[in-house]
Amino acid sequence: MIKDLSDLKLKIAKILDANKASYELGKVADYIPALAEVPSNLAGVAVATIDGDVVSAGNGGIPFSIQSISKVFGLVLAMNRLGDELWTRVHMEPSGQPFNSIIQLEWEKGIPRNPVINAGALLVSDVLASHYSASKLSFVNFLRQLAGDESIHIDSSVYESEMQHGSRNAALAYLMKSFGNIESPIPDVLSHYFTQCSVAMSCEQLAKSLLFLANKGINPTNNQTVCSRKDTHRVNAILSTSGMYDQSGEFAFSVGLPAKSGVGGGIVAIVPNYGVICAWSPPLNSFGNSVVAMKVVANIAEELGLSIY
Ligand code: GLU
Repeated sequence: MIKDLSDLKLKIAKILDANKASYELGKVADYIPALAEVPSNLAGVAVATIDGDVVSAGNGGIPFSIQSISKVFGLVLAMNRLGDELWTRVHMEPSGQPFNSIIQLEWEKGIPRNPVINAGALLVSDVLASHYSASKLSFVNFLRQLAGDESIHIDSSVYESEMQHGSRNAALAYLMKSFGNIESPIPDVLSHYFTQCSVAMSCEQLAKSLLFLANKGINPTNNQTVCSRKDTHRVNAILSTSGMYDQSGEFAFSVGLPAKSGVGGGIVAIVPNYGVICAWSPPLNSFGNSVVAMKVVANIAEELGLSIY
């Protein structure tokens, strides 16, 4: 039980204040106009505890594009649907390559290195598109249920932009299809994947919706089992080794929490048996991780002594 919530709120607000000026060191993602237009000086943080309480500071209540953070939710849904068969179609190794790299996919005969690089998330999107009659709706409903918030929605301008600039993701999906590792028609796979990336959520909503990963697979706010304890450990292991792009090793070394980053500037970090930290600020470093959010998560973890190692 985390007793002193007002103290926690003060601490995270102070850490956000101390770091938010660093946004000037980064650059907002500009591969699509809908992301390039987001003001670079917004910054928020939220911590959800396994008692179901949420505290936040700054712009922690403003929805932003969750982008690659969606890969965590997609993975959990696909694990639930396919069971261990999923691991015959995607591996669990760090890639050591940029998130949208295509090189390894050719070498490894259409089997992605892990489910949180783009190739792996497209494979997961294929599983969902093939196994749900309405995978996009099911995905958004899953998030609404986890967060206990019906207002969670898809940002249609982000979706349209993603569709128009999706050639590289299409190339990844077609290459996997050529190896027989994609079942659905490629336009369905891409449409599901870009829908996932285009969901808008706030730090508060994200932190709350991922509490099951800090609580052995059970959502503490409604006591529902989201995934098995074993799969919870597996997801956290993948996030520890591959969730922070090509800075995953450094993040494990310096922060020590399973985490996932997205090019919208959000970072979520899972603290087993404690809760979830989510920080957001749009400008990114050269690895695609938010400059401010990295510092905020690192400082909170240090202040509270939260490394899993
Ligand atoms: N929509 C982005 C893409 O597929 C997601 C990138 C990310 O957040 O890592 O390129």
